[in-house]
Amino acid sequence: MAARKLLLLPGDGIGPEVMAEVKKLVVWFNARGAGFECEEDLVGGAAHDHHGKAISEAAMKKAHEADAVIFAAVGGPKWDNVHYDVRPEAGLLRLRKDLGLFANLRPAICYPALADASSLKRELVDGLDILIVRELTGGVYFGEPKSISDLGDGQKRAIDTQIYDTFEIERIARVAFDLARTRGKRVTSMEKRNVMKTGVLWHEVVNHVHRREYADVALAHMLADAGGMQLVREPKQFDVIVTDNLFGDLLSDVAAMLTGSLGMLPSASLGAPDARTGKRKALYEPVHGSAPDIAGKGVANPIAMIASFAMMLRYSFAMVEDATLVEQAIAAVLDKGLRSADIWTTGTQKIGTIEMGNAILAELARLAG
Ligand code: NAD
Repeated sequence: MAARKLLLLPGDGIGPEVMAEVKKLVVWFNARGAGFECEEDLVGGAAHDHHGKAISEAAMKKAHEADAVIFAAVGGPKWDNVHYDVRPEAGLLRLRKDLGLFANLRPAICYPALADASSLKRELVDGLDILIVRELTGGVYFGEPKSISDLGDGQKRAIDTQIYDTFEIERIARVAFDLARTRGKRVTSMEKRNVMKTGVLWHEVVNHVHRREYADVALAHMLADAGGMQLVREPKQFDVIVTDNLFGDLLSDVAAMLTGSLGMLPSASLGAPDARTGKRKALYEPVHGSAPDIAGKGVANPIAMIASFAMMLRYSFAMVEDATLVEQAIAAVLDKGLRSADIWTTGTQKIGTIEMGNAILAELARLAG
């Protein structure tokens, strides 16, 4: 079997602490013959301190060569005043851009043991499992013109431009339909075709891709504002949601809060399949940042990072059973009442980052038999 090449980028703050728990999983899977080969490099503030920029060319080369990049978190007050071009976040943006990671996957899974931590009633979120697929490299965040101009008389004009071309909508739609085929076979596409031309084209192209290539998947359309409402009214009606960059940013944060803490949320960003090998470039990262307020205290929740590793098993290496095993191990630890500080409630047992990682590993070993 060819080696599975991983690039680990721990970054700043709690990044190295949560990445350490993923490294234990790599060792565990390698003992079972998974064949992961890991390289590690600096990113964010750590890279800035060492190289004067948020990611070195050598690290970028490794990222291009890797089958998957596992990224923890970057940033912190130490780098608040560095030049904009070399700020810690620039490392992540460069990775997304240079690797062509146009599809952002954010699952919102509610573990039964944590259903009471949601802002919604238990019955609305218990067992929730939805996947938001957000277009990540186009739309209003990147469209030109983008400016603020002075109109005189104390007036200014700000312009952002929302642009989508057919190919951008086609490729993100395909990602959503392909993923739906591995899940509940239902896609809901969200835009605002009632007021936006990009919404009209989005709707038309998604329909076209569906008719031509994915008739076996059920497709529904929803205006994005109504979609937001439905997400908090009856979230379990959804399987896969596909939407543009702006609406995806908002809707995935809404969905995230259905499931409790930031420390629980994984994500994946995927590129186009390689024409020769069919492999996609991919980066896996927790949704949270570097949490400078708790860095170095050993209390960070490593579950978002570990669940990101599970997404990597599923989406980069088709190790679906192993991915499910990791997710079941996380659920089992929560069922036992073990909690990191961010998800602790009265009557449960508070444990630190390392203990949480070890507990998940122990459950994994037990479940694997
Ligand atoms: P944050 O996600 O780092 O933290 C927000 C709150 O959630 C904090 O109270 C933190 O303690 C808590 N939290 C986050 N992750 C946790 C975990 N795993 N376990 C327990 N608690 C956790 O967001 P912020 O405070 O707005 O930003 C801090 C720094 O991180 C900033 O420099 C910001 O730019 C950066 N940031 C980086 C990324 C990234 O690397 N992708 C994302 C968001 C923010």
